[in-house]
This record gives sequence, C-alpha cells and structure tokens, in this order.
Amino acid sequence: MTSTRRLFFAIALPDSVRQAIIGWRAGQFPYEAGRPVAAANLHITLAFLGEVSANKEQALRAAAMRLQQKPFTLALDDCGHWPGSGVVWLGMKRAPRGLLQLAQRLRAQAARNGCYQSPLPFHPHVTLLRQARQAVALPPGAPGWEITVDGFSLYASLFDNGRTRYMLLDSWPLAGRRDSV
Ligand code: ATP
Ligand code: MG
Repeated sequence: MTSTRRLFFAIALPDSVRQAIIGWRAGQFPYEAGRPVAAANLHITLAFLGEVSANKEQALRAAAMRLQQKPFTLALDDCGHWPGSGVVWLGMKRAPRGLLQLAQRLRAQAARNGCYQSPLPFHPHVTLLRQARQAVALPPGAPGWEITVDGFSLYASLFDNGRTRYMLLDSWPLAGRRDSV
C-alpha cells in the first residue's frame, strides 16, 4: 500500500498581518457567528491537491520549481460570507492578475497530475470563521492589509487531537521585479 498525504499549495501570510487580522476579527464578529480559524492557519489556498502519493508529490514539486513568475502585491480589503460552506472570509475587491495566474498555473499542473480541480471559479480568500451557517452581520470592508507575495508554499494538512494543523513542506520564490497590482 502506498501512503498519501493531504496537500495544498498556498500563500502564507506574514505573522504581523495574521496578528492584525485576528485582532480585527475579534472586534467584528460575535462569538456565536462561527468558529475562528487559528492564527497559525490563516492562509490563501492556491490549489487544493487532495490525497497525494509520494510519486505524485514529486511531480507536483518539480512543476512548482519550474514555475516562473514575478512577485506581486495584494490588498485584503474585502470580507464576505458563504452560508452554504459556513465560511466567513477575507479577500480582495480586485484580485491581482499575478495571483490569478499563479493559482491557475498550479491548478493546471494539479489537474495534469490527476488531482481533481473544482470547476467552480477560483475565489482567492483567507478563511476567517468556519461553521458560520446563520446570517452574519458583515463589516462593509476590511482594513486592506497589503501583502507582497514573493513566494508560495506546499503544505500537508494533518488532523490530530481533534485539530487541523498545517505542516509547511516546501516553499518556492517568485523572482524578478514586482508586478504592480
Ligand atoms: P478542516 O477541513 O479540517 O476543517 P481545513 O479546511 O483548513 O480544515 P483541509 O480540508 O485539509 O483543512 O483544507 C486545506 C486547505 O485546502 C484549506 O484552505 C481548504 O479551504 C482548502 N480545501 C479543502 N478542500 C478543498 C476543495 N475540495 N477544493 C478547494 N479547496 C479545498
Ligand atoms: Mg476542509
């Protein structure tokens, strides 16, 4: 039997931004709105890979290493609620082209390697609350934290002691001069 791991590519958020987000979140949403995602788990998923074998993981890492793209900036200036999935999210009013391109490339590689990719449009976001199935009073926007994205990472999602924890496996830089938003 070959073992698999649950993997995804994502953008890590700087520690200062994660701290600022949880401080802001505490003042915006009442306790009963949903389950807050732990600060350490705040991220932007680029491509979800699912259960992946070691061989397939190697192929996906090789593709990630070959990917060439410039750094870009994004601003977390939007907030919304998907009642169906019970997610309250932080996102962007306008996602930068670089972000969409990076996700599209990683998702295309994932699909080529047999990782199922949802046909639904990609909505880059940071999940803030889970199990938010009732109506939530949303703030009109978000403070617009700006982030320079100069790399992306591969994570394994682990479930132990009743908690989901992400393990950073590898990171790849985006090289060259920054694209404007
Ligand atoms: P949990 O599911 O245990 O509550 P989680 O959603 O953070 O926690 P995973 O389900 O392993 O952990 O997901 C890891 C990342 O991949 C998250 O950003 C999640 O939103 C995203 N993800 C999970 N499943 C899918 C999917 N089918 N399609 C797209 N993204 C997904
Ligand atoms: Mg999940």
